Amino acid sequence: MDKILIYNTLTRKKEELKPLAPPVVATYSCGPTVYNYAHIGNLRTYVFMDELRRTLKFAGYTTKSVMNITDVGHLTSDGDDGEDKMQSAAKKQNKSPEEIAAFYSSVFFKDLERLHILLPEIIAKATDNIPEMIDFVIKLCEKGYGYETDDGIYFDISKFDGYGKLSRCNLDDALAGARVAINTQKRHPADFALWKKAEKNHIMQWQSPWGMGYPGWHIECSAMGKKFLGDRFDIHTGGVDHIPIHHENEIAQSEALEGHPVVNAWMHGEFMLVDGGKMSKSLGNVYTVDDLISRGYSPLAFRYFCMNTHYRNKLNFTFTGLDGAAVAYDRLRSAISACADAKSGDGSTRKKIKELRKSILDAVYDDLNFPLALGELWTMAKLAPCKEIFDTAKELGAVFALDLHVPPEKRDSAEVIPDNVKKIADERFAARAKKDWATSDALRAELDALGYSVLDSKTGYELKKK
Ligand code: AMP
Ligand code: ZN
Repeated sequence: MDKILIYNTLTRKKEELKPLAPPVVATYSCGPTVYNYAHIGNLRTYVFMDELRRTLKFAGYTTKSVMNITDVGHLTSDGDDGEDKMQSAAKKQNKSPEEIAAFYSSVFFKDLERLHILLPEIIAKATDNIPEMIDFVIKLCEKGYGYETDDGIYFDISKFDGYGKLSRCNLDDALAGARVAINTQKRHPADFALWKKAEKNHIMQWQSPWGMGYPGWHIECSAMGKKFLGDRFDIHTGGVDHIPIHHENEIAQSEALEGHPVVNAWMHGEFMLVDGGKMSKSLGNVYTVDDLISRGYSPLAFRYFCMNTHYRNKLNFTFTGLDGAAVAYDRLRSAISACADAKSGDGSTRKKIKELRKSILDAVYDDLNFPLALGELWTMAKLAPCKEIFDTAKELGAVFALDLHVPPEKRDSAEVIPDNVKKIADERFAARAKKDWATSDALRAELDALGYSVLDSKTGYELKKK
């Protein structure tokens, strides 16, 4: 196994990865809340997750990775008093939370596939793991960390010594940062809900020792991490927005329960900005992969755009920037794929290519420095065409996943699906989720007439031009 350095947010240092049970590296990545389409910022974080997992695999490790799907419990406010995001989307769209979750999960998985993001070995849906969450909360209460109020069970952060160690804020900062408590029964304003008691009209609710209710968002990740990876694992990933609340709370819950650190290294992907600012619906700048495709960009050009900035740096998305990346990406791909049938290079070229291969991997193993690695790949692509360029790029394709050995035209033309076709396919998927087979069949016939066949899978559907 090759040596890998990773930056650990907890220690603020680059550290050598020392897996607990090599060759396995156990990782947990906070997954999406499936109440809406994933935007390109969310997907940047999953490209980062994929860079990590592919790098581990390339270095000879076996990944045991978990990604959760949050389909309950993530409230619209961090103050534990908002509405459940799944429930509010369900009400707006006149659907059930299950239909909302099934629909947006399937689009999310399709996006991952289009961006060549490998699926983690374990995909854990929050609603499939409620007993483990309840058990976790019971144990926290037994140990004196949880307490009951009229509306739920809360974690008493003052009881956990290490609170704030990830974001490096102390208890006073956390208390000052917390919103003015609406729930006056909380012992401290920054205490957070482990379990919420459900009001009658709350759609998703489960039986618990505290009556009907539903889990808090943070306990979901702690409980699923414990269930699938045990009480100690190697790496936990997420976006930087999770550092101060979600991950701080995960650490508090898990370490309070186990009595020792659970996660060895915390890795966080920086944010994507759009036009230099925050993405927001009101600014109309929240883009999805489908938006990019309908504007003529290939998803892999977006992947290249992401990989060209280090995961720990902010990435400003503009269409001008994406244009530049798309042109560069096509040129790189053309240069490399053109070497498919080239002759072997001379001795000094072959030596140079070997050295470049090494410096590419050195960069990747040095805390996923993909921008540097792409620069070295470019240096290789600019050498006189020879077979070794193609072979090396193809071999390294396992870590870049950019199809650099495939000529640009071949893939892209197959990927653009017209909007009207996509819309019908989405409607058909929604009909299937509702078990409305008549509508689903009628829509399949429409797709057929437009020249598309649709293949259903566990996680969604795929369209193919006939
Ligand atoms: P959510 O579905 O809101 O839980 O977010 C899914 C993932 O996307 C989380 O890991 C977030 O940290 C991450 N995320 C949210 N917004 C952005 C953004 N603008 N740039 C990068 N990552 C983001
Ligand atoms: Zn999480």
